[in-house]
Amino acid sequence: MSLPSLTLNETHDPALRSWVESANAEGCPFPVQNLPYGVFRRAGSDEAFRAGVAIGSQILDLQAAQAAGAFSGFDDLARRAAHAAAEGATLNALMALDTAAWSALRLALSRVLRTGSAHQTELVACLVPQADAEHALPAAIGDYTDFYTSIHHATAVGKLFRPDNPLLPNYKWVPIGYHGRASSIGVSGQQFRRPLGQTKAPDAETPSFGPCKRLDYELEVGIFIGGGNALGEAVAIEEAETKVFGLSLLNDWSARDVQAWEYQPLGPFLSKSFASTISPWIVTLEALAPYRCAWTREAGDPQPLPYLDSPSLRETGAFDLQLEVLIQTRAMRDAGQAPQRLSLSNFRDSYWTVSQLVAHHTVNGCNLRPGDFLGSGTQSGPGPGEAGSLLELTGGGKQAIALAGGEKRIFLEDGDTIVMRAAARRDGLPLIGFGEAAGTVLPARSLP
Ligand code: MN
Repeated sequence: MSLPSLTLNETHDPALRSWVESANAEGCPFPVQNLPYGVFRRAGSDEAFRAGVAIGSQILDLQAAQAAGAFSGFDDLARRAAHAAAEGATLNALMALDTAAWSALRLALSRVLRTGSAHQTELVACLVPQADAEHALPAAIGDYTDFYTSIHHATAVGKLFRPDNPLLPNYKWVPIGYHGRASSIGVSGQQFRRPLGQTKAPDAETPSFGPCKRLDYELEVGIFIGGGNALGEAVAIEEAETKVFGLSLLNDWSARDVQAWEYQPLGPFLSKSFASTISPWIVTLEALAPYRCAWTREAGDPQPLPYLDSPSLRETGAFDLQLEVLIQTRAMRDAGQAPQRLSLSNFRDSYWTVSQLVAHHTVNGCNLRPGDFLGSGTQSGPGPGEAGSLLELTGGGKQAIALAGGEKRIFLEDGDTIVMRAAARRDGLPLIGFGEAAGTVLPARSLP
């Protein structure tokens, strides 16, 4: 079966250039080979939020482009997809279509935005500079599930609690997950108050109530579901990627002290549901086709059960996607200092990958719907600078991290901004960027 998520076509040609000049700059995250979708309006305006595509430093307004007739010369499928993208204030209608429609729209966008397009004149008027835009969530997210797919993260965190037996016996067999909270997911730029909650110090007799003292971030890849499956019908791993619209970044903010007290026996609850921040752009799986790599399982480890295994998974199931976390404290911001890197890891090191998560999520008959959202779990790599949370970077809150300006951090302080970035890179190919997922911690509300 030839999956659109794995098939190269003219839209991936590294020689393509756009008439939007900024898209052609070396290292631009949004070249004409990317074409990620988001929802935006002019910042501070009362315009309706609408769908757009990032191209260079600009956003192509899909509603305006549709109204200007940019897609009228394309086939039915492309016009239907453009129409779905242009309607409403979310991408859910586009996500509800299928891979053939998504591919047709990508091809149409590639053709109208590349150098030499006959549509350049009318589309110039449909561009909005990204610097002038503000974003809303790209989709109305129905259900949100968070996984735990990095064995390096699971082992490092497990070691803090169980030094002799860090990995629980199910880890290498079952993609571990829990049902998260969709209502508090926000888009980059999100600011939220430090959560209040119940915590219990190990040496305390009884729990206490107050502001979280161990506030952390989690570097994750977000997975937006497209299409979906009927209740009672599982998605086979071979077709799992046809149910994925695209990927984003996700910061799964975590109150570690609240989590430690509440998580047994049903898993995280209020320690995660106060805020989660995603990037404004969704990079389609088709855009990532040239950046795939083999998914492997060490010979000494259990091989996955058949419903979680396939030849194409082994061949190209993983994503070579570099992930970065940076911090900018209030003092750094006041001094005009740029954010400082905390870690660099790669999604290819994940123990479970996207198609396995979709196959596993639906194997019991659970239905996924367009706009549903999956978190990959914290993406930590094998190396010391590759930990995707402060909990790991500080050895469980024991070793402070020294920042360039002389400050130290163990967990997050009020005023801290965490910035996450992602990029797919290959020699000879354009860089595919995700934009940023940035979020800022505000002081807790005063105690009631
Ligand atoms: Mn998480």
